[in-house]
Amino acid sequence: MKIICIGKNYAAHAREFGGGEPSEPIFFCKPDTALLRNNEPFYIPEFSREVHYECEVVVRIVRVAKAIDERFARRCYDEIGLGIDFTARDVQMQCVEQGLPWEKAKAFDHSAAVSPRFVPFGGDAEFEMRLNGELRQRASTREMTFGIDRLISYVSRFMTLKIGDLLFTGTPAGVGPVSPGDRITAALNGETLLDFDVK
Ligand code: ZN
Repeated sequence: MKIICIGKNYAAHAREFGGGEPSEPIFFCKPDTALLRNNEPFYIPEFSREVHYECEVVVRIVRVAKAIDERFARRCYDEIGLGIDFTARDVQMQCVEQGLPWEKAKAFDHSAAVSPRFVPFGGDAEFEMRLNGELRQRASTREMTFGIDRLISYVSRFMTLKIGDLLFTGTPAGVGPVSPGDRITAALNGETLLDFDVK
């Protein structure tokens, strides 16, 4: 399986990093070795001094999608969950400055935390993320620049989506660094799905 992540899909987050909303979806991939499951602890990697959390709605693909029309993309998923797209921000900034790919900053082991439970998709969803109980991110999927169907349609023009693939749909404003001893919790429509420690 593969993990596809969307960049800058919430206007307020795009502004956090200086830049407007993209005219087309931006995506990148993480390998299956990036998965962090079952609310297991996240260990900050030794190569970064500044790892950020990015809480995102995650869509699980349940039907193969190759160049699928947006009108039919809804058939490709039926549940959503939450995830944290961990990002070595210092490494990412170095890569960007040098015009290099981001993989070292985004695709490292356990950089994609995924909630143990997914819930049936029921239209727009509200989600929020807390660090040590303090609210850091809160958004509705309504605020996405590109909706889930558009994202699936767009990505599937370039790479076939397979059953079990995970789509991270982008993070809203409020990203920030994590430190050892932190606890991350995140809720979707009021139900806590992520609850794990940073070490
Ligand atoms: Zn992200």
